[in-house]
Order: sequence, then structure tokens, then C-alpha cells
Amino acid sequence: MPKYVPIIGMEIHAELKTKTKMFCTCENGYELRDQPNQNICPICMGHPGMLPVANRQAIDWTILVGLALNCKINRFTKFDRKNYFYPDLPKGYQISQYDLPITYDGNLTIGPKDVAIVRIHLEEDTGNLKHGSTGALVDLSRAGTPLIELVTGPVIDSAKEAKEFCQEYQKILRYLEISEADMEKGQMRCEANVSMQLEGRFAVDGNEVKPLLDTVLNPKVELKNINSFRALERAIEYEIKRQTKAIEAGEPLVQETRGWDENTQSTFSQRVKETAADYRYFPEPDLPPLEISEALINELKATLPELPQAKLRRFVSEYQFDPEVASIIVEDKNLAAYTEKVLSEMITWLVALPETEGTEEEIMSKDGKKLSKLVGNWLVTHLFKHLNETKTAISNCPVTPENFAEFLTLIYTSKVNNTSAQEILNEMFKTSTNPTEIMSTKNLGQTSDTGELEAVIEKIVAANPKAVEDFKAGKEASFKFLVGMAMRETKGKANPAIINDLLLNKLK
Ligand code: ZN
Ligand code: MN
Repeated sequence: MPKYVPIIGMEIHAELKTKTKMFCTCENGYELRDQPNQNICPICMGHPGMLPVANRQAIDWTILVGLALNCKINRFTKFDRKNYFYPDLPKGYQISQYDLPITYDGNLTIGPKDVAIVRIHLEEDTGNLKHGSTGALVDLSRAGTPLIELVTGPVIDSAKEAKEFCQEYQKILRYLEISEADMEKGQMRCEANVSMQLEGRFAVDGNEVKPLLDTVLNPKVELKNINSFRALERAIEYEIKRQTKAIEAGEPLVQETRGWDENTQSTFSQRVKETAADYRYFPEPDLPPLEISEALINELKATLPELPQAKLRRFVSEYQFDPEVASIIVEDKNLAAYTEKVLSEMITWLVALPETEGTEEEIMSKDGKKLSKLVGNWLVTHLFKHLNETKTAISNCPVTPENFAEFLTLIYTSKVNNTSAQEILNEMFKTSTNPTEIMSTKNLGQTSDTGELEAVIEKIVAANPKAVEDFKAGKEASFKFLVGMAMRETKGKANPAIINDLLLNKLK
């Protein structure tokens, strides 16, 4: 049986969050509105005789995203008209870019592979149609929103790789602060071209797949209307199975656009695909071509922030974070900044405290792993829970990095145990109070006083003769039960390690 492999290329549209639209001074329409047609003018409504003026910010940001993805920048670039008729596009054409996109020929590393980026061009978004029982309504709020379209080479070979590419691209757009890239809101739209081809019988050239020898390529399917990463992955997986089955059964496949049906978890045919010739592209006569200077490119390059993959590597090497935890933290630039502030504050605390010795570097090299584990655990498991439950962004977190660092220091130096720490964090999240104050007003400090704890052990052992007997007969669970009783007696404030030692001694 000949082997067929998936060939996947992505086309990703993302709306830029500039103040104004692409070719007029209307307020940008990337945020969904309650009221339709509030931010429109004769230009974005496509009235005849109106002249567009290109948005400088949108051009700069397209160059910036190109630089972030190792793309080349076209020093001479222009806009073109893409002609097609649909009521959400009142001009009868979309201003886009055809043969000279602002940026081209880049790549993004996904796992072991450099995924080739063929181009990223700038265009305008269309309006929305709302279909009702009496007909369709047109909302042009979104028409004219700056839109960048990224095209990858047909070099992706699994649904998972396609999903990871889109996730990494979304992260980059957010790090650059040029798009919210929320798929559910349509701010980022991922389309996948999927076909199955005979292994070894094709070659990839730019964004084209070419047949080798006398091979006839199978047609590709364009997957559209996908509004989550999960749906994207599932839709591609479904297509791979559907196409493979059809080929093996000798059934014909057609080049078409298919949508994703969330209810049936399957793709369905929407329409037969247009080719570039149908669009009759020609240069936009109302906009002058653009010359992009070396100086502008250098200026923009200097503003590039540390990108997510570099930050991830640094969090692992510099702070010794577990890669899995680090990848959760760098997901959000603000969260990563918060974490770094916590760590640096915490080290300042540790250097200052008498019970921890050494300089910043010494503490980091000796206990870095332990520190990052503590920070990661309390951040990802506990602080996240509070943030999620109250739908709070990390930038509005009521627990300041300073207070969180002080809190972690209390745990690190055994001043509070786990149970009390959770109670302190609850209170910090509610009131923004500093943890030491909460610890003393609520009397939550950990008891490590051996004398005091010995008395507790005496009491517990005397009150639970059966458990003591069972333990001596070899029942391990009884020991845990006695520890639990002792912890309860101290209202959870005892240092559990000391309780363990004392109890073990007592029962020997
Ligand atoms: Zn307008
Ligand atoms: Mn497009």
C-alpha cells in the first residue's frame, strides 16, 4: 500500500489594534460592538470618489511582526485591489497586497522544525453580515480594520504542529502588543490548507507543492470558520482521515472550502475555491507605493521585546524553572514580568534575613531550583486559582509582587506551613494586606517549639490507644492518622516535620 502524508499550510489573519482604521480616521472596529455601524465614514463605506490614506502605525506594526519572525522587509512595497463581490465589502474590492507584501521569507521554530513563513501582508478587514429571518443585515463597524495575513509554506505535517504554530504566533502578536488575537472574537482567524500526497512524490517550492515524475497531486481543501485552537486541531485531524479514506476507496476529491461543524465534529463542503486569477488583482491607484527606509527598519528592530521562545529558554537557564512551568508563565508577558519581580524581591528578602546565608548569586546557585519550584507551585497552582475564579488579569492582581515574595519567604523559611499559607493567601487576595501582618493578626505562624509540640504528642498518644497499638502492629496508616490528629490539635499550625519526628520517637 502506498503511503500518503499530510501536507498542511496555514493562512492566518489577525486584526491590528491601532487607534484608527486602515484607510480612514474612524475608530478601529476590532472590538465587537453592541450597536452596528457606529464607527463608519464614506471611506470605509466605500462611497465613490473617497480617497484612502494608509495608517502609518499599521505599516510599522507589520514590519515589526516581520522582524519578529525573521522575515525580509520589502524596501519597495505597494497595495493592490483584490476584486470580488460580497455585501460585507461595499467597494467591490479589498485593498490588500499582491506581489510585493511588506514582509516575506521568514520562519518560526516549532519543536524541532523551522516552519517557513512565505509572507505577511497588510490589508483591510471586511464588515459583518447578520442573517435573520427577514434577510441579511450589514454591519460595517469592522470594515477597514487593519488586518495582517500570514502565509506559511505547505511544510506542516500534523494537526498538532499546525495548532502549535498558531499558538506561538498568537503569543508573539500579544508580546508585540499589536493584536489581542482572540480567536473567539474573530481577531485571529486560522485557515488551513490540507491535502494528502504520496510520500516522496512531491516537492515543496515556496508556498506551492509540486508533483515529481508522473505523479498527479491530490486536490487540497481549505478549512475555514474555525474559532478555537482545539477546533483547528480537530478539523485538520478529521480532514486527514476523510481524505485518506476517500483516496484508499478510490473516491474522487475536489478542491474546495470546507467549514467546521462543532456539533457533529466534522467538516462540510462550503464552496469550490476561487483561484488568484478570479480576483483580477491590480495595483491600487489611490495609494502611492511605499518606500521603507533602512533607518525605519533599524528603529523598529530596536523596539522588539524579548520574544516568548527566548524568554522560555532564559527562565529555564537563569531561574532553573521546570520547562513545563516556565512555558505556562511565559504564556503571558505580564505574568512573566510579575514572576521576575517576585523572584528578585524574594532573593532580596533572603539575602537580608539572618537565617539564610550568602549573596544573591550564592543563594541562586545553591537553592535556585528549590526557589523556582516554590514560586512556580504557588503561582501556577494557588494564585492562578484565585485569578481564574475572580476573572482577574495578572496586571490587576491584588497581591503585589512584593507581598507575594514576602509570602513565599515565610513559607521558604518555615514560618508558616502549607495549610496556614493557603489561608494567608486567601486573605491577601481579598484585602491586599501584607502576609506578615495577616500571619500575626490571625495567629497563623507555624509552631516549631519542641516543648509545646511534645505536650501535644503526649495528649494525642494518650487519647488514641487503639491507633498506637495498630501502628506498633505494623499498620502505617495509623501513624498518618496520629500525625493528622496532632495537626488538628494545633489547628494546623504545627511544623509537620517536627510532629513526625516527635511522634516517631515517642512510639519507638
Ligand atoms: Zn471610516
Ligand atoms: Mn486576506
